[in-house]
Amino acid sequence: MFATRFAPSPTGRLHKGHAFSALTAWTAAREAGGRFVLRIEDIDPTRCKPEYEAAIFEDLAWLGLDWETPVRRQSEHLADYAAVIEALKARGLVYRCFRTRKDILDAIGDAPHGPAEAVRPGPHPPEDEARLLAEGRPYAWRLSLDRAREVLGEDAWNALSFVEKGVGPNGETGLVRARPETAGDVVLARKDAGTAYHLAVTHDDALQGITHIIRGLDLFEAAHIQRLIQTLMGWPAPTYRHHRLLTGPDGRRYAKRDQSVTLAELRAGGLAPEALRAELGF
Ligand code: GLU
Repeated sequence: MFATRFAPSPTGRLHKGHAFSALTAWTAAREAGGRFVLRIEDIDPTRCKPEYEAAIFEDLAWLGLDWETPVRRQSEHLADYAAVIEALKARGLVYRCFRTRKDILDAIGDAPHGPAEAVRPGPHPPEDEARLLAEGRPYAWRLSLDRAREVLGEDAWNALSFVEKGVGPNGETGLVRARPETAGDVVLARKDAGTAYHLAVTHDDALQGITHIIRGLDLFEAAHIQRLIQTLMGWPAPTYRHHRLLTGPDGRRYAKRDQSVTLAELRAGGLAPEALRAELGF
């Protein structure tokens, strides 16, 4: 059965871009007679706030959307993600990384072949790892692309692909060859959260039976690495449809960080949900 989702992180108020994304997914589910899932992606303990989560429900209801309940809140399922990390560890697919953001940035500066190399730092030499562990230093778990390639084998690695029903930033559409190397050895378990975006999102899409991932073009690149994680874990391949990003009057895309035109502000200013839906083409 067709199932899609809207998966916001409660790190700020929703803006028009979110409304467009949620309406695109919700309408697609309606038209297909399928399911619409709302998922709260709140694994970042420092940036996520309960008041932002409450506002997500309020804003989406105001917009006229409805969704399945109960709503999955990722922070309540950290054990699920930890179990995936354990499974990947057992297959040698992840390695401990004690490097700080600064170490990585410094390495980018030094890398002879550019940034691609720096996001694949590789495991620490065993003696360094043992020392850092003994010192009680925090570490992340990174996916090893070298090991993933070995585990899958050359043929499966070269055949990695996903179906894009929209159009990617470089015109990618239809069957797109997945290139996980552009993302590198991504962090699958953060030092502070025990999990990370790519792991939690692919796990939950599989668990919740999501067949169609409809989201903004800003996440197009993520599909490459997410397809690899799904393949390694034997999770189903969803169909992707990345949609255009809305831009404000200044031509810049709406972003959470500048809190441009939040739905709350528009509502307080007297905008009717029907008017916003019409403006966004729904
Ligand atoms: N939680 C992500 C975000 O807020 C979206 C995840 C996704 O749609 O894959 O940007």
